[in-house]
Amino acid sequence: MQPSPAYDADVVILGAGCAGLALAARLATTAPSVRAIAVDVRTRYDDDRSWCFWGDEPAGLEGLTARAWNDWVYQAEAGAAHPHRVDGVAYRYVRAADYYAHCRARIAASEHVELRLGVAAGAVRRDGEALVVSTSAGELRARWVVDTRPRRQRALLFQCFTGVEVDHGGRLDLAALGIGADAVGLMTGMRADASGLGFVYVLPLSHSTALVEWTRFAPHPLRAAEVRAGRDAALADLGVRLGEPGVRVLREEGGVLPMGRVADDVPAPRIPGLVVAGAAGGALRDATGYGFARMQQWADDCAARLARGEAPVGHPPEPFVRRHMDRIFLQALRAHPERSAEYFARMARGVAPERLLRFLTDRARLSDLLAIIASLPLLPFLAQLPDRSRRLAEPLGRRRGDLVGLGARRPRPARAAAIGKPEPLEQVAS
Ligand SMILES: Cc1cc2nc3c(=O)[nH]c(=O)nc-3n(C[C@H](O)[C@H](O)[C@H](O)COP(=O)(O)OP(=O)(O)OC[C@H]3O[C@@H](n4cnc5c(N)ncnc54)[C@H](O)[C@@H]3O)c2cc1C
Repeated sequence: MQPSPAYDADVVILGAGCAGLALAARLATTAPSVRAIAVDVRTRYDDDRSWCFWGDEPAGLEGLTARAWNDWVYQAEAGAAHPHRVDGVAYRYVRAADYYAHCRARIAASEHVELRLGVAAGAVRRDGEALVVSTSAGELRARWVVDTRPRRQRALLFQCFTGVEVDHGGRLDLAALGIGADAVGLMTGMRADASGLGFVYVLPLSHSTALVEWTRFAPHPLRAAEVRAGRDAALADLGVRLGEPGVRVLREEGGVLPMGRVADDVPAPRIPGLVVAGAAGGALRDATGYGFARMQQWADDCAARLARGEAPVGHPPEPFVRRHMDRIFLQALRAHPERSAEYFARMARGVAPERLLRFLTDRARLSDLLAIIASLPLLPFLAQLPDRSRRLAEPLGRRRGDLVGLGARRPRPARAAAIGKPEPLEQVAS
């Protein structure tokens, strides 16, 4: 496909983070006839996060796994650990630095896909057959636009987390979380109270290094200082004091993920040929916040369509049953935050690991759903059948000091703010 002279590219991709880079790299390697330009406001890529997922490496990302584990553990506040393992399924860890470098190398090797950094995208409008994107570096005209820029969203709950990859010199007391050096602590040291659930997420990376995160599920985004304080307290309980001799912070990551996304604060304009994707386009699973594997699958599908000369697609809508199961679960967590650790512990204890894993990875069968329902107390969940999500949903990032922007160390180009909509929320996962 040759872009007509009226276009700068067949497709312009706004935002080149996880989803935007995935699409650009797929186009670079599989769709030589599609001319694409990806723009991102960032001027460089940092090792700003990591992605975990269950299963095989997505096609095209072979060799990117930095670490994989066969065991993962849930541990309620009472201390009982529930180890899970499913034969043949690994929990994989991909570093952002490796992912960014991998995708960028593929883009750099292609002659038809271009990545432009330090370019802030603004509004998109239609002009005859073309879509026109205003950017800090002038206008771009394209047949199609895929917008992966983060958007402010309203959600039932917010997963607020901050973590450190730390060289702890062997101090980290993994046994206190009920895990060994070869297992992931998925939700350990759970603490539930009237304001929500907190838990420790630990990835032991070597005998002396680990990624340790403190996560809170809360009805509104929490202040960064509050979550950092929780992280430091959790680390101290595990024998690691940041700043103490022999303890070295290697990098930090954190963010706020909406759980049970109800609406965007500023809905994306409905313009034919414009598709919203990535976390902003519904890539993250409501009940978990996982989305990496989904974004890779979407990039495959979207690149294949573009290669056939067809319009790009967004993420498929959640199937009815999954959407409602997730909503009921999140409403129950909101209604009874003090019982949330109990709910997770019941599922971890009462549902076979392979069933729970199928549920978490979007492959649940009816029997899996029934097993999950059977593990939970009936009445609090029955009370959540009416859909109250629109009334309950809170906006992301309204209050000063919210976790929005946590870990953002990127310079914002001076003109980005002037360009305007939608407002860039660097480092906010969605
Ligand atoms: C710290 C962290 C850890 C996570 N861990 C996991 C995990 O283990 N597993 C998992 O499945 N999911 C995880 N997630 C959730 C999700 O997978 C990530 O947030 C993912 O990066 C979302 O991809 P995205 O492309 O939608 O957004 P991003 O990766 O955030 O990319 C959006 C891009 O848009 C750019 N941008 C913003 N405004 C503009 C503008 N005006 N013009 C141009 N560009 C702009 C940004 O610079 C950014 O590069 C994590 C999220 C975070 C924050």
